Amino acid sequence: MKNLILLGPPGAGKGTIAKRLAAELGYLHLSTGDILREEVARGSELGKKAKAYMDAGELVPDELILAMVKERVAGKDGILFDGFPRTLAQARGLEEIAPVQLVLLLELDRDTVVRRLSARRVCPQCGALYNLITSPPKEDERCDSCGEKLIQREDDRPEVIARRFQVYMRDSVPLVDYYQGKGILVRLDAARPPGEVYAAALHAIGDDRP
Ligand SMILES: [Zn+2]
Repeated sequence: MKNLILLGPPGAGKGTIAKRLAAELGYLHLSTGDILREEVARGSELGKKAKAYMDAGELVPDELILAMVKERVAGKDGILFDGFPRTLAQARGLEEIAPVQLVLLLELDRDTVVRRLSARRVCPQCGALYNLITSPPKEDERCDSCGEKLIQREDDRPEVIARRFQVYMRDSVPLVDYYQGKGILVRLDAARPPGEVYAAALHAIGDDRP
């Protein structure tokens, strides 16, 4: 099986596609955010080192991230990287650990990202999650389970989302250029309905379809 990378802004549906590819084709879904949280919770050597940076409000260095990824992927294939690599140094380091054959770039414009993510609501009482566009509550902005008035999280405010989008664009440009130069980047229009985006992803993956 191929090793894949999913690139794309928040709200482009990376998580949804990754879950389906893992469930239906057997890919090993690796998100560095999850790995970091796990290593820190486990109190491993690498986790302790990473925590020191995180506690100081600093980015965890590329070598440390790469060491964690290496532990997980040694001798495996069919790995689906989600949220990794973030930097060119990570991308180059990954070549040594687990060469990637395909990079799927989920493209979505800023306004659509802001519209999708600012429609998120959460119940302050029970924590249930809603999206006014894709999974609205039955009653206008009230929680289905407890009836509480739904709220918008600080992170889901349009100005915060617009800033995250800007950071994503800045960070992803060198990666997109790098993988395009290698001839393994495929662009997918993530503004289409999720089922169509998934079908396009399957088509790009090609050989690995069961
Ligand atoms: Zn509730």
